[in-house]
Parts: sequence; C-alpha cells; structure tokens
Amino acid sequence: MIPPAFEYLRPNTIPEAIALLQQYGEDAKILSGGQSLIPMMKLRLARPAYLVDINRIPGLSYIKEEADFLKIGGSTREAELEGSPLIRSKYPIILDTVQVIADPQVRNLATVGGNLAHGDPANDHPATMLALGAQVVATGPQGERVIPIDHFFLSLFTTALEPDEILTEIRIPAAVARSGGAYFKLERKVGDFATAAVAAQVTVDDKGIAQKVGIGLTNVGPTPIRATRAEDFLRGKKLDQPSMTEASQLAAQESQPSTDLRGPAEYKRALVKELARRALRHALERAGR
Ligand SMILES: Cc1cc2nc3c(=O)[nH]c(=O)nc-3n(C[C@H](O)[C@H](O)[C@H](O)COP(=O)(O)OP(=O)(O)OC[C@H]3O[C@@H](n4cnc5c(N)ncnc54)[C@H](O)[C@@H]3O)c2cc1C
Repeated sequence: MIPPAFEYLRPNTIPEAIALLQQYGEDAKILSGGQSLIPMMKLRLARPAYLVDINRIPGLSYIKEEADFLKIGGSTREAELEGSPLIRSKYPIILDTVQVIADPQVRNLATVGGNLAHGDPANDHPATMLALGAQVVATGPQGERVIPIDHFFLSLFTTALEPDEILTEIRIPAAVARSGGAYFKLERKVGDFATAAVAAQVTVDDKGIAQKVGIGLTNVGPTPIRATRAEDFLRGKKLDQPSMTEASQLAAQESQPSTDLRGPAEYKRALVKELARRALRHALERAGR
C-alpha cells in the first residue's frame, strides 16, 4: 500500500529540525529509520502532513563510553549496535536485544532512538533500557533535558517526548565489575514481535549478594513494564535458584498481558516467569565472568 501524501522536509541541523517541528506542531512527524512510521502510514494508522527527516543531521549516530555512561546517539542504527565491539564485549544484554529485533534488513535502517520514541510496548529496547536504568536525552527549543527511563513510557504509543523534541541520546550507566545482563524473548517465528520477553541486569558483590537488579518486560502490558516487586525482592539477597525462581514468579504477577493472536494471557504470564528465570540466571553467569 502507498502512504497518504505528505510534505518531505530534510533539515541539516538539530535547530533547523526543531524549528520545523515547532512550525508544523502535531501535523509533523520525525522520520528516522522509517521502520515503524512508514508501515503505520501505509496502514493509515498515522497521517502526518509533514515528515521531518533527521537522517542527514550529522553527529547523532555514535556508541561511546564517556563520564561513567555508555552513550548511544539517537540515530544509531540497530546494525551499528550489532557490529560494535564495545557492545559485544561489555554490554551483551544490548547485543541480545538487537539480535532479536526483526531481521537484518530492518536492522540496517531502524534506529535505537526510533525504537524508544515509538512507545510500542512490543518493541524490544524499552525493557532492556528499563533493566539498565537508562536515561533519555531529549533536545527541544529550550535545549537538552534528561528523562529517566522510568518516566519515559506514559501509555500505549505515548512517551514523555514533546512534539518539538528529538531523542538525541540514550545514556546507560557504564558496565561495572560483577555486573551482567541478558534478554530472553519468545517469538512465534524469526522476525516477529515478542509474545513475551524479559530483560534482567544484575550487579552482585563478592559473595553473590545482589546490589543492583533491573528487570524489564516486553509486550505484556500497555507500556513496557519494570518489575519493581521482583527487583525489590532480590536486592540484598543471594542470587540462587530459589530466590531467582521466587522473583520470576513476582515478575509474572506484575505483567499485565492480554489475550490476542499471540496467545492467551495466562500463557504469556507463564512465559514471563520462565523467561525471567532464564534471564536472571544468564545475567548472573555473565556477572561472574
Ligand atoms: C517487519 C518488521 C519487524 C519488526 N520487528 C521488531 C521487533 O521484533 N522488535 C522491535 O523492537 N522492533 C521491531 N520492528 C520495529 C523497528 O525496530 C522500528 O524501526 C523501530 O521500532 C523504530 O525505529 P525507526 O528508526 O525505524 O523509527 P521511525 O519508524 O522512523 O519512527 C518511529 C516513531 O518514532 C518517532 N521518532 C523516530 N526517531 C525519533 C527521534 N530521534 N526523536 C523523536 N522521535 C523519533 C517517529 O516520529 C515515529 O513516531 C519491526 C519493524 C518491521 C518493519
């Protein structure tokens, strides 16, 4: 299907892009990788009159460690994350996540900023960013503001971004010793969105006691969900099979799945329990390496 007609705008700088977003307000949409927006336009689920293409703005694509953070530019493509030696060696939870997003063709274009800004609870990065305790940098007419990821996903397809703001950077606390994470997803077939998925990130002390725990859930609610009760239960406890099993049960209780073509709600809740158990176990293994 062909999308409805629109005006195509191609700013060369962030201020130019913001000025266009201010000028056209709710009638404008940012075009990044186009892998969510264009399908929605084809299906007539979105009808922006103006597309503001930010792909030619320099300096929005990078992966670097700086000042205690891993910083990822908003326009960084999934394929760049996948090929990054830094991600591969120090942030395997992000590599787990990227590798189960769609297929290589989509990943060549899709951006991590677009994945978060779209506000789709079925997307994979949000749960991982919740588990990692990330921050989102939004750049608008007033300059930059930093949004903790816990305050970013407001409701279905709605984030804390204002219509005239661009997601320019994601900041993730830099990997520390004895920390590790993992992302486990069940999909009906390769390239599909998750039936359910779980991200887990842990930091333990030298006795295996959990100092930090982050658990994020994909596609089991109207927004990506942080399993705070499961996290609270584990913090300060030894991460062993009984404690991780109990936490997985809590995470399943915190999920809010609905019955749809991917399966009944009860099945998805049971999946969350199993995927959480596996993600926690794998995260702990990685923390020990
Ligand atoms: C066949 C297929 C399978 C897919 N499977 C998966 C999957 O399994 N898991 C998964 O996570 N995703 C999946 N996706 C979605 C894909 O990852 C999307 O590309 C991604 O969610 C959006 O990124 P994008 O750069 O393409 O954004 P776009 O499509 O360009 O934009 C999406 C939305 O975000 C806004 N936006 C984009 N960038 C910014 C920015 N920097 N600042 C502010 N707003 C912005 C746009 O205005 C738009 O509203 C799939 C897509 C396809 C086509």
